[in-house]
Amino acid sequence: MNAAQVDSAQVEALAEAAADGIEFDGFAAEAEGDGYVLATEAGSKRVVHGDALDDAAAEYAPYVTNWYFWHAEAPQAEDRWAYLRWLERADDERVPDRYDALEAGTTREWGQLRVTVTVDEAGTRRYELRHVDDADAAPADLTDHDDPLDARQLAKHDDRDRYRPLKTAPTLQTGWRFADLGPGELVRAVESFYPATVANWHREREGELDISHWRETIGRQSGIYGVVRTWDRGEGHEHVDWVAEACCVDSQCVKRREWQYDEETDLDVDGGDGEFPCREPCSVVIAAARRWTKLEGEQSRTYEFELTPSEKEQIEDIVDAVADGRTEEIREADVYEGANRYRARFLRAKRFDDDGNLSGVSTDPEEAEGGADADGSSADEDEAAEEASDD
Ligand code: SF4
Repeated sequence: MNAAQVDSAQVEALAEAAADGIEFDGFAAEAEGDGYVLATEAGSKRVVHGDALDDAAAEYAPYVTNWYFWHAEAPQAEDRWAYLRWLERADDERVPDRYDALEAGTTREWGQLRVTVTVDEAGTRRYELRHVDDADAAPADLTDHDDPLDARQLAKHDDRDRYRPLKTAPTLQTGWRFADLGPGELVRAVESFYPATVANWHREREGELDISHWRETIGRQSGIYGVVRTWDRGEGHEHVDWVAEACCVDSQCVKRREWQYDEETDLDVDGGDGEFPCREPCSVVIAAARRWTKLEGEQSRTYEFELTPSEKEQIEDIVDAVADGRTEEIREADVYEGANRYRARFLRAKRFDDDGNLSGVSTDPEEAEGGADADGSSADEDEAAEEASDD
């Protein structure tokens, strides 16, 4: 059984609020004559004189401290309040059971964040935050932080110190811990790791998530991104399926994609299982789509390459390994793996000519040396010119 204890400030607040009546989380209290009526959903009911409220409140300590926390200590903004209650499964568990669980620590995952909520005797919740992959790490092996805004810095780079342009990519660095945050601090830290996710999660629960689908979002692009509008030519949405498959699946982003091609047309790719929704194509996707718009403007050609069957499969292995981010895992000794570095170097030595052409087949038979286009400009020059004309 839990060890909740009511303090004088809580009794005072209870007496004041009972004048208007309290009904919260299976607990009710109201002023009646010279005293109060306290009751729980479990059927317990007490009528007490005003002087005896202290003792009566102590009997209902888990309910009273729980009511006090949620009304006097937790942030009152609707989305934050709902999020904190979700963390401890407040809608699913009755207060005594919830308190028993909180004493041991109730854990939830949010993207790659792992939040553990505990409660003290006064009903005050404390929150521990760490990376899901550090679930079993000893505290001594993690670096402690207490300022929630440190999360912004931690979110910037991955474990290999590479910049993370997409904050919800599943590449959050490990090795840190916020050991003891208050409720407001916890939400601030979570929002620093994953901006706007709490607000959008709450909007979705309330049926108020404002989704901006691909067509709508693309239609708003201007400046250097305006070119993306030309990618939609009214020829279906297969290209957007490819975008979603490339960028938005669970292996690439912890958000659950809710945007589709347009209001009437769903994409064929699953949106993922993320806890919080994605309401519109993000800037990383738009920037990639800008590049694809240009590349997809090219017509297919037929090339003829000399490859052994194993070499063809090796090229497929390499594309797979790069697309799945597995190249780092492939050991140098593992020469059975097509994307093994020595195997790739062997293929290049054997099949590339001095200009880097696969099987000696130039990309454009008419192009000048150095990868220039027919008009003599390089791809980078084209891009720069395009940006300049867009500006
Ligand atoms: S658009 Fe895709 S990649 Fe970008 S945040 Fe949404 S789900 Fe993630």
